[in-house]
Amino acid sequence: MPYKARSESVVLKTLRILNKRMKLTEDDQRYYQNQEKGYEGEVQFDVFTEMLQRNCYILNDLLLNNNKSSFQLDSSLIFQGTFSLFEVKNFEGEYVYDGEYFKTLSGLDIQNPLDQLKRSKLMLSQLLQSLGSKLTVEAYVIFINPQFTLYQTPPDLPFILPTQLNRFMSKLDQKPSLLNQSHKNLADKLISLHQTESPYTQFPIYEYEQIKKGMTCKVCHTFSVFVTGKKMVCKECGCEEMVALAIMRNAEEFKLLFPERKITTNIIQDWCRIVPCKKTISRSLGKNLKIIGKGQWAFYE
Ligand SMILES: [Zn+2]
Repeated sequence: MPYKARSESVVLKTLRILNKRMKLTEDDQRYYQNQEKGYEGEVQFDVFTEMLQRNCYILNDLLLNNNKSSFQLDSSLIFQGTFSLFEVKNFEGEYVYDGEYFKTLSGLDIQNPLDQLKRSKLMLSQLLQSLGSKLTVEAYVIFINPQFTLYQTPPDLPFILPTQLNRFMSKLDQKPSLLNQSHKNLADKLISLHQTESPYTQFPIYEYEQIKKGMTCKVCHTFSVFVTGKKMVCKECGCEEMVALAIMRNAEEFKLLFPERKITTNIIQDWCRIVPCKKTISRSLGKNLKIIGKGQWAFYE
């Protein structure tokens, strides 16, 4: 069990909603696919860390600060004497490493994951020092995708290729790991220092008017849904959901896209489109959120 679980970032959740409710620009679409792929790779690596038998604290996805600079750790393991950090890459296809540069086989330069790893390692070492921890920091880039090949990799680089992953994890599982209160304190401290908003994320620009309104199916995410009685039914996949729950799920999407807007019965009705009865909406909102104010000025938080 991870001590700090992983969840989708706000930017990934936002991009998912935008992707179904508007046409993303080519850049945003690429950015979205990268985010989705990166997250998928991290989740795949979680399967490996969770299989470890040794005692260790698993901290997934930490965003920390050191000297006013942020750095992100995809995955961290606290053992008795070492702090292992992992940068997870879900690259697919054939790549070449030529000593300094990381390239695709066709010659396209990719940001060298080693640079990012070195930076994270340095930042973390300084932070641990300032927290009084004496753990040795080890850092690795994990290439998680089985379809990834890297040519000319010198064996002394901290790169773990897909074919090496199982053996690498077994080695980790042999680390001495008597954990005490100081390890727990460190894990708790790092979690308390975790930031939720990364300065590096880029959000697409959008406005309420350009976003496609309507409810979407919780399974296939299409707009092919209709309301009948207390249920919402999907024509595409046949999924049924209680209208009250579907309203809340779609209202959550509205809230995520427009956090500064007040949630009112009228706006959620406009957002959902297919619920004719205002009362159904206000009842659903009232059950799950706190109502503030009265009558036509009431809103929910
Ligand atoms: Zn469906």
